[in-house]
Amino acid sequence: MIVMKFGGTSVAGNEAISRTIDIIGSKIEKQPVVVVSAMSGVTDLLYLIADKAAAKDHKAAMELLAQLRNRHIDVADELLDGNAGLMLPAVSSVNEICDELEQFVIAVCALGELSERSKAMIVSNGELLSSTIISYAMNARGIKTSWVDARKMMITEGELMKGEPQEGRICELVPIVVGDAFQGHQAVITQGFIASDVSGVTSVLGRGGSDYTASLIGMALGAEAIEIWTDVDGVLTADPRMVPTAKKLDVISFEEAAEMAHFGAKVLHPLTIEPAVRQNIPIYVLNSMKPSGSGTLIIEEAGTEDSVKSVSFKKDILVINIFSTKMIDASGFLSKVFDIFSRNNVSVDLISTTEANISVTCDHAPKNIEKVTRELSEFADVVMDEGKSQISVIGKNLVNIDGLMQNILGALQGKKLYMISQGASYINISVVVDSEALPEAVNGIHKSLFE
Ligand code: ASP
Ligand code: MG
Repeated sequence: MIVMKFGGTSVAGNEAISRTIDIIGSKIEKQPVVVVSAMSGVTDLLYLIADKAAAKDHKAAMELLAQLRNRHIDVADELLDGNAGLMLPAVSSVNEICDELEQFVIAVCALGELSERSKAMIVSNGELLSSTIISYAMNARGIKTSWVDARKMMITEGELMKGEPQEGRICELVPIVVGDAFQGHQAVITQGFIASDVSGVTSVLGRGGSDYTASLIGMALGAEAIEIWTDVDGVLTADPRMVPTAKKLDVISFEEAAEMAHFGAKVLHPLTIEPAVRQNIPIYVLNSMKPSGSGTLIIEEAGTEDSVKSVSFKKDILVINIFSTKMIDASGFLSKVFDIFSRNNVSVDLISTTEANISVTCDHAPKNIEKVTRELSEFADVVMDEGKSQISVIGKNLVNIDGLMQNILGALQGKKLYMISQGASYINISVVVDSEALPEAVNGIHKSLFE
């Protein structure tokens, strides 16, 4: 079996869904378990509906609900044009889901109170709608498809709006539910994002949670592969908005993907694919607009090359320099400093130390930063530096790559370097430069390493 997950843009409307169904059809011999997101923009719309309902804005909520209904009915109409036998039940399924949602929203409007439970009920409808329509369309195109309610197998605990998957339960349930669904069918379709808590109350996995669903299902099935179909060619060597010459990567490790995601590589969040990686299941990131592309394969570190994979950056960070003569020949100083960061929940990125200095970077203006400086100032001189940006070169065993540091520094000639850091994991070399120098610096490094 394979798991094929299609994101919002891959199911955005008639054309995108038709392309998606062709892709599924081309892999039918692999027994695809299809996981879909809501059509692009729909989850945002549902969050807005929930907000309007909480604010008792009945009129706005009803207008937005009408938009939601019309969009889905239009897509069902177009997709099933010429197949009256399936078009009627598809449209009435859409109406049923929308009617039920409308009743629910009216009740929330009347109360003007939105619990987490009600919110999860509302925002999870996008996936129910998209998967229902696509299931009809797959059947109309001759793929015998079985629709599964993900709440039968994705069990969470904790918060309803960001449920924590109970892997044990999921591993028990998924093979049974999916196995049953395949009886007499060629494909199974289910929803990303939506789940259920142990007592059957609807929950969701948090924004962008559909990848997580796909990964958990893949893990539970011991799938041959997981395909994440999106609207970009794969994972790139840099953010193409900053570096127009960025190239697609063929293979990267999970660790590299995790480092890149920290810098906002938007393709997927690595934590969400972790359950599958743990099981050694290969994950492909593919472009549904260009299905013939090879995409990016994400695998365990052991299978990847020692090489540079990406030049990532973080704009406008804060550099904090902590100086104290008390640090000289003393022990326990670092723990004292980091205890302050930790107690105040300020997350630190880069660290560099000398005998009497500690320099750290963190996000632009973290909450509690004043408290951190106040506490540090009790025993050290603290200087905050704004207007800086961090560039990170990410790859595997960077220490083995000949002349790498020379290339990086060569590309930075004439620019001020405020910090340089390479950890002994050799996965990341980072430098801090002035924010104004960032575009030129990133493009320069990218050029020297990839072009
Ligand atoms: N539809 C949900 C969201 O937009 C989940 C997903 O697309 O992954 O957050
Ligand atoms: Mg989405």
